Amino acid sequence: MKVLVINCGSSSLKFQIIDTETEEVKAKGLVERIGIDNSRLKYEPAGMDEVEIFNDIPDHKVAIKMVLDALVDENHGVLESLDEIEAAGHRVVNGGEEFNKSVLINDEALEGIKRYIPLAPLHNPANIEGILATKELMPNTPMVAVFDTSFHTTMEPVNYIYSIPYEYYEKYNIRRYGAHGTSHRYVAMRTAEILGKKDINVIVCHLGNGSSITAVKEGKSIDTSMGMTPLEGVTMGTRSGNIDPAIIPFLGQKENLSYEEMDNLLNKKSGVLGISGISSDFRDLEDAAAKGNERAKLALDIFASDVAKYIGMYMTEFEDLDAIAFTAGVGENSASMREAIVEKLAIAGIKIDKQENDMRGKEKIVSTDDSSVKVLVVPTNEELMIALDTVELAK
Ligand code: ADP
Repeated sequence: MKVLVINCGSSSLKFQIIDTETEEVKAKGLVERIGIDNSRLKYEPAGMDEVEIFNDIPDHKVAIKMVLDALVDENHGVLESLDEIEAAGHRVVNGGEEFNKSVLINDEALEGIKRYIPLAPLHNPANIEGILATKELMPNTPMVAVFDTSFHTTMEPVNYIYSIPYEYYEKYNIRRYGAHGTSHRYVAMRTAEILGKKDINVIVCHLGNGSSITAVKEGKSIDTSMGMTPLEGVTMGTRSGNIDPAIIPFLGQKENLSYEEMDNLLNKKSGVLGISGISSDFRDLEDAAAKGNERAKLALDIFASDVAKYIGMYMTEFEDLDAIAFTAGVGENSASMREAIVEKLAIAGIKIDKQENDMRGKEKIVSTDDSSVKVLVVPTNEELMIALDTVELAK
């Protein structure tokens, strides 16, 4: 079955056509700068040259129309006709407590996604736009919503209630929801397959531009580092992660910042970018640190330390841990970062094999034979997970 997977942001849209029988990606691409100037579609058909199409792309409907046209284009298309697309799967950022799994999109589901806009004010509206635009262009194609938060709905209150007056949980749904759920679910599933163990106990470290750590017990998320929003947890590319909340009013008063400006500072100007003053990109930081830049080195050290501390903290939630799995841009590609993190876990008998670890982007066990817990690298594949859920529900 061929599935169109769509991940809509406010000004961008990523897509893939996946054949779920062979798990082959037929084409993928990205529309950038929707509603801004210089908008373009970057389209990569499998086995053919990449195509860039510049066009005026005022909204998501025009963006999706361009994608669909490219898919059946006589020169670089990968489909004979759009009828070959049997279903579409949409990534949706927040489904609150309600959506504990993926759902077929109908009016009721759409209303539900709208209800959680206050919890993801930037993301859910863009996801809805993508859904509505696809629906208009492909009215007879079944569509499925796959939520980033669903995987974490198995958390217990002890891990999702914040220590503020309980009434705000009741009044405004303030609680930990977590994020990257589809990635954590995929990596936990693959880890279970690789290790040949069904009810896997694994701590998944999704380390990318945004990073989150999830404790997965018997295949279910029991705790995760991101919170009501993706700002909580470890330091990230540009997000602060955990800080003393009292810094917010203190700094706000000193610098005369509005709530909006403070939100921007913590989300866009902090993290390893804020610490280093150089970049949010870990490759730049590794280069700068190698050349002796102390603040780049400090930023990398803080990141490694944050991740290792979360792993240590989450180890208290298991009687027995099978694996620690690294994924996403940094987790898959930075051998030095994996090494720095795992070295901090020596007290628990967890040991990395430096030679095995010296690689990037491959599914592999990288711990020593005598390590108390297996350490793996598992490249994530959220799109495949979305496609598989979509087929399951659309059937
Ligand atoms: P996003 O959260 O945007 O999906 P990714 O998972 O793609 O992010 O991760 C992006 C991050 O991965 C960037 O900070 C980038 O520097 C980092 N990264 C990619 N390749 C490497 C590499 N070879 N070494 C270190 N970091 C890398």
